[in-house]
Amino acid sequence: MIVGVATASGQGGIAIVRLSGRGAPEAFSRVFFPRKAVAPYESHKLMLGQVMENGLPIDEAMGVVMYAPNSYTREDVCEIHTHGGDLAASQTVRLLIAQGARPALPGEFTKRAFLNGRIDLSQAEAVMGVIGARSALALRRETQQLEGGQSRFIKDAQDALVSLLSGLEAHLDYPDEISLEQAAADLGKGLAALIDKLTSAVDERSARLLSGGLRVALCGVPNAGKSTLFNALLCEERAIVTEIAGTTRDVLTGETQIGGVNVTLMDTAGLRQTTDQVEKIGVDRAKQAIGSADAVLLVLDASRAVKPDERELLASPPDAPMAVLLNKDDGETVLSAALIETMTSARPVISLSALTGQGVPQVREYLGTLCNLPDQLLLTHERHMAAAKEAIASLCQAQSALCDGQPIDLVGIDLQAALYALGRITGESVDEALIDDIFSRFCVGK
Ligand code: GDP
Repeated sequence: MIVGVATASGQGGIAIVRLSGRGAPEAFSRVFFPRKAVAPYESHKLMLGQVMENGLPIDEAMGVVMYAPNSYTREDVCEIHTHGGDLAASQTVRLLIAQGARPALPGEFTKRAFLNGRIDLSQAEAVMGVIGARSALALRRETQQLEGGQSRFIKDAQDALVSLLSGLEAHLDYPDEISLEQAAADLGKGLAALIDKLTSAVDERSARLLSGGLRVALCGVPNAGKSTLFNALLCEERAIVTEIAGTTRDVLTGETQIGGVNVTLMDTAGLRQTTDQVEKIGVDRAKQAIGSADAVLLVLDASRAVKPDERELLASPPDAPMAVLLNKDDGETVLSAALIETMTSARPVISLSALTGQGVPQVREYLGTLCNLPDQLLLTHERHMAAAKEAIASLCQAQSALCDGQPIDLVGIDLQAALYALGRITGESVDEALIDDIFSRFCVGK
């Protein structure tokens, strides 16, 4: 029987003490005394009562018993909802420990749910993903995984693999009825379909967007209006704006959300030749930020001609997507989209005024197109993508063995290896060390 506080520590309205395992309802009934109900309690019914020690009340609380198997862990689970702050909850935990419970390890409730077969390993990981999600989209992704979307996909792939294996065995057992040609043709077709399916499910671009968000570098020469745009996109006065060139010396970052994705904006030092030591370091950092960004916004002052540093960037833009922004569109301008298009290839050009805000929504819209993720996200966790890639490698090996005319039973070994790799995602083929490692990253009480 394990006990833990499921809510975060600190001031709050309520704190939830959770108890799971054999004997939990009995321990619960010696610590929590409902006003009306008596044991055995109605399952899943919230009761008002008191937590008591030696006949003295510790706290007024709500209690609930959820009998196995209809509970989070599939064991008997009891919860006591005390008042918030840490004291009432920790006193309740102490009383339950005196009744034979032991403090739960990190993630132990979810680990029991996994070991008791209520959820698979990828769903268990999604529980942690939901808790740690940093953007609306990451939350949606984890919820899909928790609901079992990914588990169903893997199960389908495993079923397809098993049926390929049984086709192969049917030929080995009854070579007269199922010819080698027939078996090899069926296998070849099935392998190609499965490789396609798994390859398109490994979504590294979405994975990067979900975990790290989109990192966008604002660059350009001093005084182009980068800091003004940075503030306008963040809707706050973060960067210092002056007409004195070279004010932004370090890379300043700020976060906003676009289309449910976290976007990190990096306001960089103006690109120019300088003898000032500090500004020089700033320019180097700006170049690093441009090189590592997922997208670049090149801000030009449309009221004056293109400078050599800008021309250089237009001629050899970074690998990441880049848009050219013609800023200060509120006054006299000498730059036009048509002119810029002669200096660079296939880069979107947006006219705007960071000062008045006109055109800023179009910049957000452009960044939004880079944040687009498919509706159905499949494999985006590092561990799952690695296992799927292993499965794909085994299937490709099977494919080439088949093409090379190697004995067909050898192909079976590669199929088994692929099946094993897929089982690592759902937790069917994992060792205890990996399970312990995954759950040790959970918080206590979950
Ligand atoms: P940075 O050096 O590229 O970060 O440029 P700043 O954002 O510090 O702006 C330099 C100067 O240009 C400041 O005086 C701003 O007020 C001005 N500025 C920035 N954006 C605009 C704009 O859209 N229109 C006008 N008229 N002035 C702007």
